[in-house]
Amino acid sequence: MHVLVTGGAGYIGSHTVLLLLEEGHTVSVLDNFSNSSPESLLRVQKLTDRAVEVYEADLLDRDELHGIVMRSRPDAVIHFAGLKAVGESVSEPLLYYRNNVVGTLNLLDAMSAAGCKKLVFSSSATVYGDSVELPLLETTVRSATNPYGRTKLHIEEMLEELGASNPQWSIANLRYFNPVGAHESGQIGEDPQGVPNNLMPFVAQVAIGKREKVNIFGDDYATADGTGVRDYIHVMDLAAGHLAALNYLSTHKGVNAWNLGTGHGTSVLEVIQAFARVSKRDVPYKVVERRPGDVAESYAHPEKAMLDLGWKAERGLEQMVEDMWRWQEQNPDGYRQNV
Ligand code: NAD
Ligand code: UDP
Repeated sequence: MHVLVTGGAGYIGSHTVLLLLEEGHTVSVLDNFSNSSPESLLRVQKLTDRAVEVYEADLLDRDELHGIVMRSRPDAVIHFAGLKAVGESVSEPLLYYRNNVVGTLNLLDAMSAAGCKKLVFSSSATVYGDSVELPLLETTVRSATNPYGRTKLHIEEMLEELGASNPQWSIANLRYFNPVGAHESGQIGEDPQGVPNNLMPFVAQVAIGKREKVNIFGDDYATADGTGVRDYIHVMDLAAGHLAALNYLSTHKGVNAWNLGTGHGTSVLEVIQAFARVSKRDVPYKVVERRPGDVAESYAHPEKAMLDLGWKAERGLEQMVEDMWRWQEQNPDGYRQNV
């Protein structure tokens, strides 16, 4: 299958491109490199000994986007491209609505024009808002607590309405829980710009000595050790989920949502302890105020993906941390040292 991957140079995109190539698919990537580097795709091509067609382009440039989709005529699109920093979305909501919602709208127009009606969309567990119903099921009521989350919710709804209007569309809304880890080669991984917003990359930078200590955002939650609990999922398991969804779309029409999580919750303290154990380094931490907007616990009910897609997460916390640590040790400055 020929797959166009938007945002394919980014963290989850690059791991998925690698798996697509390994499985024999032909891949084109469209990315504006606003939060990534072409180096990730050079490494993916080296690891797989396969070539990727790379278009440096912006989803907001409608004409260029149409030209690319018409020219490359993909059988399916996996749509990762988007902005994802919750805090930034609060201070710059229009940037997020424009990039994520308008960007997706432009992509759908271009796909329609090119007759491509298979789409895998990067949604997020953030569409469950601050739901207290656990584990989170695909049928749990959706809501948003910030502009980033609302862009995901709006896009899911837009895709549902598109599917309802034309039954030829095959669309998968994949709701990721907390993607972490890296490819086992240590060659590709997450390369956050500036101070990481997310826990795992922050802890990795403390373990390597780039940052002094981890700030634990609250230890008075109603959880086993008082710190926040999340469903961390290995990025290679997540990538495999996209291939399973693509496979499903080749024989099913309509719009569906699937949770991609492990179903297992891990606390902030457990993450810090796992990192200290694997890296054999000190990981100092300090408990500070809760981060506004955080929920105490979030974890998936992952059965629907197993039933429909035959997919489940295979890798546990230890492997997530080991792979992340290998990437961190081999690339202390991410992709920057090679660009
Ligand atoms: P990322 O920032 O590493 O990758 C996104 C890629 O999209 C980047 O390469 C960026 O340059 C590109 N991009 C952004 N806007 C673009 C535009 N207008 N035109 C072309 N390219 C553009 O992020 P990621 O962690 O790989 O996330 C991928 C997707 O998954 C995003 O949509 C994100 O919202 C979603 N998601 C991520 C997480 C997470 O924790 N990483 C969780 C849930 C959902
Ligand atoms: N967290 C923390 N310190 C940090 C970053 C995150 O204690 O520097 C906590 C956060 O409160 C949450 C968990 O770690 O309980 C995961 O946070 P992350 O931002 O990685 O994911 P999200 O909250 O978006 O699920």
